[in-house]
Amino acid sequence: MGKHQWDIIVIGGGLAGIIAAHQLAKAGREVLLIEKKQYPFHRVCGEYISNEVRDFLKQEGLYPNEIIPAEISKFRLTSVEGQLAEMALDLGGFGISRYYLDEFLFQKARLAGAESLIQTQVESVNFNKDENLFEVKIQDGSMVFAKHILGAFGKRSKIDKALDRSFMKEKSPFIGVKYHVNIDYDSDLVALHNFEGGYCGINRIEDNKFNLCYLGSRQQLREFGSIPEMEKQVLHKNPHLKRIFENASFLFEKPEVINEINFSPKKPVEDHILMLGDAAGLITPLCGNGMAIAIHTGKLAAEAIVQNQDRMAIERQYAKAWTGHFKKRLWVGRKVQWLFGSQAVSSFSVSLMHHSKFMASAIMKNTHGKQIA
Ligand SMILES: Cc1cc2nc3c(=O)[nH]c(=O)nc-3n(C[C@H](O)[C@H](O)[C@H](O)COP(=O)(O)OP(=O)(O)OC[C@H]3O[C@@H](n4cnc5c(N)ncnc54)[C@H](O)[C@@H]3O)c2cc1C
Repeated sequence: MGKHQWDIIVIGGGLAGIIAAHQLAKAGREVLLIEKKQYPFHRVCGEYISNEVRDFLKQEGLYPNEIIPAEISKFRLTSVEGQLAEMALDLGGFGISRYYLDEFLFQKARLAGAESLIQTQVESVNFNKDENLFEVKIQDGSMVFAKHILGAFGKRSKIDKALDRSFMKEKSPFIGVKYHVNIDYDSDLVALHNFEGGYCGINRIEDNKFNLCYLGSRQQLREFGSIPEMEKQVLHKNPHLKRIFENASFLFEKPEVINEINFSPKKPVEDHILMLGDAAGLITPLCGNGMAIAIHTGKLAAEAIVQNQDRMAIERQYAKAWTGHFKKRLWVGRKVQWLFGSQAVSSFSVSLMHHSKFMASAIMKNTHGKQIA
């Protein structure tokens, strides 16, 4: 018997991969989603989703009405020393945990007909030019084959190493830390509190819980030896953060932590693999729309496959759409990041937001997209 060749394999079941799998299955295509973890699980993420994807999710029956996400319409920024500015968000967004959302969407993709392999890690992917198919090696040594591969494996994966992607050679100075907490805090705002070396976001998610998540410095963690000590010595210098950390009840036994967060540019298509979400490029978290971009890339990749027969036409359509929608936003995000994470510049950005709503709004517009449908 000949080997089975899947029409499409999606590697990685975060938002980008699940949405792509859902859209492809809905269009009647044979799709296998491979995810290394078991749902539901926590991820380091601020869990604030820009409204640019709300209509799309509703239209596709993918909006999690049952859980009533938190509605967020205001933005608060504080400097390292605690100066504060606030503004209304043009589009706004909603807060919901990835623990809930990813499993909810995964079940929708399965209902639409997507097949899945969970708790299964992909080791490597090879495009066999002679046979015009992909060979995918699974961690147990077995192989699966597909006509198309969508790479939705997030910001950093062993597949990036196997593909020898250039950003893998760079060391990243950042760590990401996330908690869920109970706290008496404004429920309609997303706040970004600066500290020396990073910034910490807080916003409400479902069930009256709050997400508290920060991008910090690896070097500071090394210097202070532990996360609690670093928080005490560095984050608590911002009086707003000190108040939050002292008044919150922490709901995890220990925080979710990741390192190697790299914002370098990547390519949307590599070795004939369409790269989705963070695998195509990670927008700096302060922009608060990596999740919306991931969802949007899942939609665009599925459209490119459904609307074209020829491999080159699929790659061209996806690369063009990706570049048109996201390249500039990621670039602006990288440039704006310097306005955060130190005493002098964070005071400047707070006063900029305070005195020039126009400038602040222009930055937001350039890092956010239009609503997708
Ligand atoms: C500190 C921080 C805060 C953030 N806050 C926000 C925010 O508030 N709002 C926002 O919109 N965005 C935020 N983001 C960005 C957002 O989290 C990401 O952009 C988004 O999760 C990208 O989704 P994805 O589907 O591309 O990747 P992921 O959600 O990372 O999913 C990738 C999946 O691939 C799987 N995988 C990886 N390798 C393999 C393999 N070899 N085999 C099988 N499976 C594999 C992983 O287990 C994972 O489930 C933040 C990011 C950081 C770092």
